[in-house]
Amino acid sequence: MRVAIVGAGPTGFFLAASLFKSGPENLTVDMFEKTPFPFGLVRFGVAPDHPKIKNVTRGYQKTMDSPRFSFFGNVTLTEDGGQGHITADDLLRHYDRVALTVGCQDDRKLGIPFEDSKNSYSATRFVGWYNGHPEDRELNPNLKIKHATVVGAGNVAIDVFRFLASPHQRMAMTDASDHSLEALKTNTIEEVDVLVRRGAWDVAFTNPEVKELLDFEDVQFCFYPDLPPLDSPPPYADRTSTKNMEVFHELAGRRIENPRMTVNFRFQVSPKELRVDSDGQVKEVEVCHNELEIGETRSQLRQTDKTSVYPSQLFIRSVGYRGRPLAGIPFHQKWGLIPCDKKGRVTDLEGKVMEGLYVSGWMRRGPSGVIGTNKKDATEVGEVMLQDQRAHQATSRRELESWHQTLLDGGAISKQDWGLLDAWETSEGEQLGKPRRKLVTLLEVQEALNKLKATSATA
Ligand SMILES: Cc1cc2nc3c(=O)[nH]c(=O)nc-3n(C[C@H](O)[C@H](O)[C@H](O)COP(=O)(O)OP(=O)(O)OC[C@H]3O[C@@H](n4cnc5c(N)ncnc54)[C@H](O)[C@@H]3O)c2cc1C
Repeated sequence: MRVAIVGAGPTGFFLAASLFKSGPENLTVDMFEKTPFPFGLVRFGVAPDHPKIKNVTRGYQKTMDSPRFSFFGNVTLTEDGGQGHITADDLLRHYDRVALTVGCQDDRKLGIPFEDSKNSYSATRFVGWYNGHPEDRELNPNLKIKHATVVGAGNVAIDVFRFLASPHQRMAMTDASDHSLEALKTNTIEEVDVLVRRGAWDVAFTNPEVKELLDFEDVQFCFYPDLPPLDSPPPYADRTSTKNMEVFHELAGRRIENPRMTVNFRFQVSPKELRVDSDGQVKEVEVCHNELEIGETRSQLRQTDKTSVYPSQLFIRSVGYRGRPLAGIPFHQKWGLIPCDKKGRVTDLEGKVMEGLYVSGWMRRGPSGVIGTNKKDATEVGEVMLQDQRAHQATSRRELESWHQTLLDGGAISKQDWGLLDAWETSEGEQLGKPRRKLVTLLEVQEALNKLKATSATA
């Protein structure tokens, strides 16, 4: 059985591993990935200062090492705008089963005036920039400013805050991109506002992320309005929100003399509009204040007429990810996902199954859950892929090999290429005392590969 998996993130690797485990001995997996690099958001999302989380890639590498597995990096399944190298039809012709594990590449917007001004970004792009995603190489955010704003109450917002609040030497020990480390040297941010729609009991931060804020000992944390007391929690408070609230109280009680930076958690506010200077660069954010009505399971939010304006020369919204539509594949615009049945079989918008085509991971469930959540999802879809019948005769091995060769001649990155790049990145990183030094652009990758191949040919 021949399987194509599109997208080399955690879901793609969990799916390949589960197919190898439960499928027939002759099952092969060819994985297609738009960037030159495997591992999806483990490489391009997970915070650089959380290196242990990235150890999960050791398991993915083992899957990659299987002789039944092939990798084609720098190969994009054509997106809706026409950007890409291969189509769903190519895949459905050459393979018995095709799984889309392409994650959520785009961001949700706030829908406020001047959201796209200079130095206003989605966290999706900002995180991609500091993590060395090729598409975000040219973001060039200006950190030579005084006031920054981060909007959101999830872990991604905290990741962004930690990057902004980190001295250069803290991040220099990580695999953050060279260009973001250069920018961090110029960082003059004195104050960060974290804007949260609801209250301090409602945040979606997890405990380890909130506890980590205690490590920023030269940063003064302030909370507006004053934190609610610990001893009168709302009915929906749980262990996580109670622990978070304990840490918030500890942070609020700390008085730092001459803080390097001040962080204001501003609860119950929603951005209303950005204001820009004559260069089109963001300079202020106007917010409206929200009232909360505490319910049994969550708080109800009501916008009031009260507004405030805060200075902000860098504005980052972390309000969610959404999928990017692919050419020839149904897409649910409202959900930002590929429609599918309960088992992950891709359907059209009326619910009719498209034979041979499956979706798993963030693009199936939406952008939530940790890396491990995708394992259950991928295993479930893998089982269905093995059970389903498909009346289809895949192309001959010769045709497939010739198609692969065309992709490789067009610049696809093979598994052997990745082996060379991985060794280069880790050895360069080792010399600098960090886990890896990332290559970013395709040009850098090609230059490195040419040198590495020339060296191994003469050795
Ligand atoms: C900023 C951030 C930080 C996170 N931190 C953590 C954390 O610390 N711990 C944790 O457990 N979870 C974390 N997560 C969640 C975790 O990263 C996700 O659960 C997981 O990556 C989703 O896996 P996926 O394979 O579905 O998608 P992805 O990881 O996004 O992988 C999808 C892959 O598909 C590729 N692709 C997309 N479109 C195409 C195309 N057209 N053609 C070919 N290839 C394509 C992409 O380049 C990508 O490599 C974080 C998420 C984010 C956004």
